[in-house]
Amino acid sequence: MQQHAWRASLLRFDANGRAVFERDGLLVTAPGPQGWRVIVAAGDHAALAPQYADVPTTDLRPCILAPGFVDLHVHYPQLDVIGSPAEGLLPWLEHYTFPAESRFADPAHAAAVAPVFLDELARNGVTTALVFASSHPASVEALFTEARRRGLRLITGKCLQDRHSPDGVRDATEQSLIDTEALIARWHGVDRLGYAITPRFAPSCSEAQLRGAGEIAARHPGVWIQSHVAENLDEIRWARELFPDSRSYLAIYEDHGLMRERAVYAHCIHFDADDRALMRQRRTAAAVCPTSNLFLGSGFFDFAAAEDAGFAHGLASDVGGGTSFSPFRTLLAAYEVGREGQTKPGLSLPASRLWWLHTAGAAAALGLEGVVGNLAPGCDADVLVLDPVATPLLARRTAQAQSLEELLMALIVLGDDRVVRRTLFAGGPGPEAGPSSPR
Ligand SMILES: [Zn+2]
Repeated sequence: MQQHAWRASLLRFDANGRAVFERDGLLVTAPGPQGWRVIVAAGDHAALAPQYADVPTTDLRPCILAPGFVDLHVHYPQLDVIGSPAEGLLPWLEHYTFPAESRFADPAHAAAVAPVFLDELARNGVTTALVFASSHPASVEALFTEARRRGLRLITGKCLQDRHSPDGVRDATEQSLIDTEALIARWHGVDRLGYAITPRFAPSCSEAQLRGAGEIAARHPGVWIQSHVAENLDEIRWARELFPDSRSYLAIYEDHGLMRERAVYAHCIHFDADDRALMRQRRTAAAVCPTSNLFLGSGFFDFAAAEDAGFAHGLASDVGGGTSFSPFRTLLAAYEVGREGQTKPGLSLPASRLWWLHTAGAAAALGLEGVVGNLAPGCDADVLVLDPVATPLLARRTAQAQSLEELLMALIVLGDDRVVRRTLFAGGPGPEAGPSSPR
């Protein structure tokens, strides 16, 4: 057993989602039975040290060990359109996104972008992501191949879009479903990888394609489902026109067998009470994408209503509609979206709650509670080494923090990729190397 220990401050979450912080903590990891590192122990240094006295220990104080971030919604073929201005969602898709995604028909292009995309996730401390590939199976092959090589827990799938999509990204109904089944057989459950059935959004899919996707979802209950819903008012009007028999935009997915556990819908902004109740009943989760919603002017996710209705939700970057790979930018934007009180009740989400929504809470939304998103014994060892003194202002501010909430909010507001000294992937190189970051 090659156990290894890190001594540093430690941030984790209890079973109720409350943050637990040890100023002087110990984290012990070891190779697990499935071939990647797992967490053996996490807690107070004084309490644990006697039991692990023989384990090689690296002292990383004053750094903070924290669970790797979980990004619930990000588009790998949109890497090169991040920061593209547009009049809103639909023009943005037409002018930037679809042309960029059409290039992923070329396996060489897909293979060239995959490592750049995964480097960005790593540099920013994202260790698990639910990712949209393009409509081309080659894009899925390239991303899975590279993620497997790095030992990542990553979930992705080929976009389904057989209508209202230009040449180059539009797929064919029958073939798209055959490709989806083939990719599930080839990749789902290989090492730490998972497949997601990926209808782009209802307006881009024919009735037959959505129905086929729902049938595949029923045959493979362990496979994820991902799509978009209720992002923008023009999009909602369009979806309602195309599917007049469904009660709401969300209900289109319900009516095609696409709402269940392990289904994650991005945005979920313009919901009514029935939509929220349906999310809870079907144990379906929302990926909240605040930087994207602010950038494209889509609206403000109602955190209070989601909490009241009791449906799972977590945070996501939505790059390239989103403006940053950094969870710190997403956390700050989520706080600002929560504060917004003109279109919905405004609230001040505690920093620890925001952090949970991007780690353990996001993992729970994926059905991966106790697997990733936390530093608890048995979890995959996806661990961040965070530097609370990474910049002069951050050092001043964190030194004056009087509570965990103040410390975490200072990191959210002032932090960026400079705070992430190292991202340890459970399936990657071990912790022995020390805290240098993969820049
Ligand atoms: Zn998206």
